[in-house]
Formats: sequence, C-alpha cells, structure tokens
Amino acid sequence: MTKRETDTVQSAFLKQQPVKMLIGGQWVESASGKTFDTINPSTGEVLATVAEGDAEDMNRAVAAARKAFESGPWPRLTPSQRGRLLWKVAELIEKNAEELAELETLDNGKPIKYSRASDVPLTADHFRYFAGWATKLEGDTIPVSIPNMFTYTLREPMGVVGQIIPWNFPLQMASWKLAPALACGNTVILKPAEQTPLTALRLGELICEAGFPEGVVNIVPGFGETAGAALASHPDVDKIAFTGSTEVGKKILQASVGNLKRVTLELGGKSPNIIFPDADMKYAVRGAMNAIFFNQGQVCTAGSRLFVHKSVYDSVLSGLTDNASKMKLGLGIDPNTDLGPLVSQEQLERVTGYIETGKREGAKATTGGERAGNELAKGYFVQPTVFDNVHDDMTLAREEIFGPVVVALPFENLEEVAARANRSIYGLAAGVWTSDVKKVHKMAAALKAGVIWVNTYNMFDAAAPFGGYKQSGYGREMGHAVLDAYTQIKTVWINLR
Ligand code: ADP
Repeated sequence: MTKRETDTVQSAFLKQQPVKMLIGGQWVESASGKTFDTINPSTGEVLATVAEGDAEDMNRAVAAARKAFESGPWPRLTPSQRGRLLWKVAELIEKNAEELAELETLDNGKPIKYSRASDVPLTADHFRYFAGWATKLEGDTIPVSIPNMFTYTLREPMGVVGQIIPWNFPLQMASWKLAPALACGNTVILKPAEQTPLTALRLGELICEAGFPEGVVNIVPGFGETAGAALASHPDVDKIAFTGSTEVGKKILQASVGNLKRVTLELGGKSPNIIFPDADMKYAVRGAMNAIFFNQGQVCTAGSRLFVHKSVYDSVLSGLTDNASKMKLGLGIDPNTDLGPLVSQEQLERVTGYIETGKREGAKATTGGERAGNELAKGYFVQPTVFDNVHDDMTLAREEIFGPVVVALPFENLEEVAARANRSIYGLAAGVWTSDVKKVHKMAAALKAGVIWVNTYNMFDAAAPFGGYKQSGYGREMGHAVLDAYTQIKTVWINLR
C-alpha cells in the first residue's frame, strides 16, 4: 500500500495489530492466536492483519449468541426499542460514511466513487428500512371451523442465526443479512469473506456504539473451509443464511442436515441481458455496459450473456466495444477510476483462465482479453472484455465467470431468445431492452429468473424482494419477503368453552 493510500483512511481501525473479532460484546483475538492478512487488490500489498476465527471461536460466538437470545436483555426489548437500535446503526453509518467507503475500496478494490455513491448509502438504507419492520411483525387471527376455538398466530424469531457472506459487496451483504435478522429479534454470528473482512468488523464497532446488547451480533472473520464450515454445521445454530457460489451453497445445505437448520441461499448466476431492435439503443448499450462491468463484473446478477437481435447486432457490438475500450482502469482509491482490480490473485487467475479457455474454444475478443499491465501490473486488473463469435454451448456462455467479461450472442426472435436465455442451471436475474409493451410482458412471464429488469439493470432497493430460481438459490432477501426467512409461525389454539 502506498503512503498516500493509507493516509486517506481517517480511522485508527487499520492500525490495530491484529484487527480483532467481536464475540459476546468483546473484541478478542482468535482462540488459537492465528491471524491472516487481507490484501489491497489494487497493489497486491498487505492492508491489515486480522484475527483468524476457527471452530473454537465459532463455539464461543454461538454460545454468546444463544445466551443473548435466551436470557439477555435482547428478548425483553420492545419492538420499538429494536427498531431504534437499527435506526441508530443507519445514522452511525452515515456519520462514518467516508471512512467506510475508503475501507471498502481498499479491501475490495472497487472504485471509490461507487463505494461512496452506492455501497455505503445503500447499507445505511437497509438498516433504516428494516428498523421500520421491527414494529410490524404481525400474526393473524384464524377463522377456524371448530366451535368455541380462538386461534391466532405469532411470528417469532428463528433463534441463533449464522450468516456467511461473500467479498463482492462486503458492507452491503453484511446489511442484507444483519438488518432483517435483527429486526425479527434473532441473534447473529456473521462470517465475512476472508478476502474482505474489514468493513463488516468496522460495522461491528458501530453496532456496539449503537447500544446493541452483548452477544446479539458476533462477527468472526476466517476462512470458508474452517470458520465457515464450523458455523454451517454447528448443532446450536438454528438457521444459516448464505450468499456465495452455488458449489459452496450445496455444501452449506449438506452441513445443515445434522440439526435440520433452516437454510436460505443466494447463489451464482449467468444472467441473460436481451436487446430487441426496438429498444432505445443509447440506453441499451449503456445498460449492457453497466450490467457487466459494474463492480468489475463481480456481481451475482452480472448480465454476462448479452443477447442482441441480429438486425442491430453489429452496431450494439461496436458501441459496446468502443465504450469498454474507453473505460479507465485504475486504483480503487482514485476517484477517476471506472474499473478497479478483481478482488484477489485467485479471482484474477480464475477470470484470465476463462478468457484463455474462451479463446481456445474459438471466441474472438473485440476488446480486452488480457490482464492489464504497466503501472497496474502489481494489482489484479483485467481489461474489460467483450467476446464475439460465441455459441451457447461454449464454456464462456455457460459458466459464471465473475469478472468483466461478456459474451455477445445474436438472436432472431422472441420465442427463440426466451428459450435460449432459460437454458442455464441458473435463474437469478434477466434484463430486457425494448419499447414494445407486449414484448415486455411476454418476456417478463417467459424468463425463469427471480428478478427481471426492463430497460434498466442492476437495480436494488431494500423494499424489493431479491433471490433466485433454479440453482441460483432459494429464499428471498429484502422487502417483506425476507421476514419469512428470519421468523417462524406459532399457532395458538384457545378453547373458549
Ligand atoms: P467465491 O468462490 O466467490 O469466493 P464462496 O462461495 O467460496 O465464493 O465464498 C462465499 C463465502 O462462503 C465466504 O465467506 C467463504 O469463506 C465461505 N465459504 C467457503 N467455503 C465454505 C464452506 N465449505 N463452508 C462454509 N462457508 C464457506
């Protein structure tokens, strides 16, 4: 890390040696004393050293969360008091916005302009939205057909919830998990991704400052195969909420079998983005850019299969190629950067590996197709890449790449493109660009995906449900849909005779 970069971070947070974990209201080192380094992907240099959680730390965190759930002040707080605590977290996020944005960018690599304009404010929004839900978790009165019975339902928290999140939106993912779980009255153990633990831990400090009782939120950084696996299989965890790859999602499900813990999964995607010839082309091309290059393509909803009607294929491809080649690659912390580095050496190898496979299978890059060199060679930078001459069965068109790589695929008609778009193990999101209202509704009905964006892409709001079809997972986050994931229904029968 260069001196200039360290100096931008205002907090004492990075000066801790190591950065500690949060268990039972205390900031502690790992039981084993082990630590791991988190890397600045813009430079490849060590950004901070972090306490490395393992099975023993998870045991302690689960015990703290259980105690807080069963007997601490937490279950006695009124819904209004819970809501106020969540609201306070939103205020503290806003108060510390610049520090959080810089930490997020240094740890993940994403351009600072997006951390400032999107990651941090949306995180605050998420807490504020769910602060409102704490007072609205209602049951029903049930008109049963048995005389003299009064029957009603209570909506109760699940209990102790384990939450495992990825590295692509570290702070937002933490808020998607923590805010609804806490609004519903659960206690939580959050495991951030090993590549990007910093902002979740800083958020933990803000959660303590807001006044949450000890043990309600525990944050244990560590690796997936150790800390993550210990949490996923823990016999005293009632529910796991996971966001990450489909491959690991299946392991989480297997690990849940021991105590039949509830599981929600938000997994991978290979989302189709479909441009009809009657679309407003200026916005469609811009939309296709945002769909694939936002966050370096490290987005589970990335519009990585770009279907373009054959009558406009050449012009869309040349517009996309032109725009992509003009993107400014740079250090995450540089306010002029459009495209930052990938998150890690591993991700760099994975994405460049896909690019090589694509070339071998006959795809032609119209722009990009290489790792970025020169002054960016120390970081994990890949050029924004557009592939032509691809067919649906190629690896590039089937597998999730999770990088700034899009394949363009021509199509002839609506029925054909809908069928091809659906031919995927995934079903997370889909985009449609058209000015014809009939096409809008036909495609919205035909596409097998949890989210459909029409004449827009990558739109998220705390109030709008989000989640996958098929192997993109199950359960929904956000909106009132997520309340089902963090509560259970108890039915009460009272004999009035
Ligand atoms: P990616 O491949 O994009 O890094 P992963 O699905 O591997 O995504 O990781 C998402 C999260 O899952 C991370 O927090 C990671 O540590 C965790 N994880 C990885 N493997 C396991 C596992 N076997 N059990 C539990 N969590 C895991």
